[in-house]
Amino acid sequence: MRPNRFDGFCDACSVHVAAGGGALTGLPGQWRTWCLACSPQPPERGAHDGWHRLPLASLDLETTGVDPHGDRVVSYALLDEPGFEITGLVNPGVPIPAAAAAVHGITDAMVAAAPPPADALAVVLDWVDTLVQRRVGLVVFNACYDLTMLRAEAVRHSLPQPDWDRLLVVDPYVVDWGIERGQLGQRRLVDVAAYYGVSVDGAHDATVDARAAREVAVELAARHAEVGGTPLEDLMTHQRAWYADRAADWNSYARRVGRELDDPDGWPLTG
Ligand SMILES: [Zn+2]
Repeated sequence: MRPNRFDGFCDACSVHVAAGGGALTGLPGQWRTWCLACSPQPPERGAHDGWHRLPLASLDLETTGVDPHGDRVVSYALLDEPGFEITGLVNPGVPIPAAAAAVHGITDAMVAAAPPPADALAVVLDWVDTLVQRRVGLVVFNACYDLTMLRAEAVRHSLPQPDWDRLLVVDPYVVDWGIERGQLGQRRLVDVAAYYGVSVDGAHDATVDARAAREVAVELAARHAEVGGTPLEDLMTHQRAWYADRAADWNSYARRVGRELDDPDGWPLTG
């Protein structure tokens, strides 16, 4: 959801909405303008019990680019119980493209003295393994990007890997899609966070993003009883299905315009 760029009329109450004075949702060809009073809001928090009341870990990576199979990790944030945060830089061994540095602000000079991937990512992979052992859910926004890259790095550097099939993942991007079915338009972390009232002060810093993603996951579960009340083992199945639906939706568009297709079975790791 974003501000409406053009004058329009509220989809609900028909009041005139000046450019920038309301909200815009939807998809190309199906835009909907809303006055502030009528703009879509998440439901209130419920009193139900669920996984949002249990310890929940969170992970975010900053990287050299957008290809999870070929690009490299340059920083990581691992959030566990309160007070337990591991963050670090990685010297990826390849130059950081200017476009990537412009997103996260991490440059070649900053990682020159950082540990190589074989050392730094061993810590990350070992921590993920402890989550598998402890049965603690791991929040990752758009997991098939971060986790696929982490696995590719493990293979590249011959590092021990956790049992990915047993990892419990909560992906707020996929859960949000399962609830909204894409009707609210672009849903990057900053969009979903804004919708749920979670502040993201300094997006594209791994710690900031990991913290926001975990807060969004908690809001999703607290405000949608059918999400929070579902055991994480079962939520894995739901998220796979939602991701497959989303991929099918995307692919029907991508085929028309000649864009790259998504793998419907690509969550939480893409082959
Ligand atoms: Zn209205």
